[in-house]
Formats: sequence, structure tokens, C-alpha cells
Amino acid sequence: MSRELTEIATGVLVATARQYTTTSTVVLGTGGGCLVVDPAVSVAEITALAGELAARGLGAAAGWATHPHWDHILWCAELGDAPRYAAPKAVRTAARERTGLIEAVQRAAPGHDLALFGALLPLDGETIPWPGPAAQVVVHDGHAPGHGAVWLPDTGTLLAGDMCSDIEIPLPDLDQADPFGDYQAGLDLLAALPVRQVVPGHGHVGDAAEFRRRVAADRSYLDRVRAGQRSDDPRLTEPWLVAEHGRHVELGSRHMGR
Ligand SMILES: [Zn+2]
Repeated sequence: MSRELTEIATGVLVATARQYTTTSTVVLGTGGGCLVVDPAVSVAEITALAGELAARGLGAAAGWATHPHWDHILWCAELGDAPRYAAPKAVRTAARERTGLIEAVQRAAPGHDLALFGALLPLDGETIPWPGPAAQVVVHDGHAPGHGAVWLPDTGTLLAGDMCSDIEIPLPDLDQADPFGDYQAGLDLLAALPVRQVVPGHGHVGDAAEFRRRVAADRSYLDRVRAGQRSDDPRLTEPWLVAEHGRHVELGSRHMGR
């Protein structure tokens, strides 16, 4: 387990937090600026990330939150006051659900500056405006409303948010009207990209072959649960994932019964 930034592609650095194997990604731009995606999770870890950036002579030029879940909308004063963006639907969802998000962060990772928590600007465009390599956003509703993966075409790097994990099953947003359909649509968008390395929000960096393997595993998982059948996916280890799996199967069988 390392909190250190590891360069996984030219100019793309990833740190991994202790809690939920959560990744934070830093993309190097011009003039010492960087794009900071989903900095996480504990106050100590985010502060250490800011310290490491400062030690390398780097400063955040922009931030990106992949989706409106509490562990992806964090920030700290030491990271500076760069604009932090998310997809418009994600920003609206984070604002609407703020009370619950604050309860969750206070419970799981207490001590964050709540004035900075979820302080996001809606980005109505396909690329993040910042002085650095092209950073395209791939927005869908697969895991949460307005889930925005970041695609870095120069290096073939996909910052997948909470998709394409090696340690978590697909987690559709069960509050939506068509959770499985939304998830499948999001997965299809990501699968169409010529990915050379994938950074999941939780889990480990994978290469092109591993990305393909994860997409196939996620599709086969979704096919099973949509048909109301249990899956023997090897990622079903933690009790909370097993519980989610039960909900997926139940939802799938309800739809089958119609
Ligand atoms: Zn999430």
C-alpha cells in the first residue's frame, strides 16, 4: 500500500489510499500546473498529496470529480483554489444530496473542510479547460448520475471513476429508473476507447488486456444479474459487495417477472 505518486504513463501519476483502495490521479500540465482527479480519502492522505505536489514544484490548475459520491468530491485548502469541475448532472446531484453526503463523509473520513467539500463547477463541454494534455470527459449515468470518466488520448489513459475495477463488481445506481441499462450504456462508451491503461476509482491500474478483461467480466456480471441469476464473480468478497449483489439479483428477477 503506497501513498506515493506512481507514474503509470508519461505525465500521469496515481496515488492509492488505504480506504477502499481509492485512487487519486494527477496529470501533469504546462508550467507546473496539474489536473487533480478525485483526490482521496482521509484528511491526512489529501494533505500528504498536496504536500507531495508542492515538493515537486507542482500546483493544481484544475480539479475533476468523476461523480457525486462523497469519496470523489473531496479537496483541501493546501491543494489551492483551482476551479474544480464535474458534469452538470453530477454537480446538481451533489447539491441535492449534500446533507447525506456530509453525513457519509463525517462518518467514514471525518475532519474534512466542508466549505470545500463538493464545491464543484458544472462543465458543459467535452474537454476540461486547463493548460495541459487534452482531457476529454466521457459522461454517462452508469454508476451515478453524470458520471464523468476522463480520457487522456495522448497516452491512451482512462481515468474510469467507479467503473472497470478489479476489486468491485459493477455498482449501478439502483435509485434510477433503468440502472442496468444506464450501466451497460456507460460501459459501452468506455469499451469503445483505445485504452492502453485504465485507472479505476477503487482498485489497481490495468493495461490494455486487463481493461478488456474487466469490460468482459462486467458485461458477463450484468448479463447474469439482469436475468435474475447469481454470479460467481471472484470480486464478490467483501460483505457489502455481496449485499449489493443480492440487490442486483433481486432487481433482475423482478424485471424478468414482468
Ligand atoms: Zn462511487
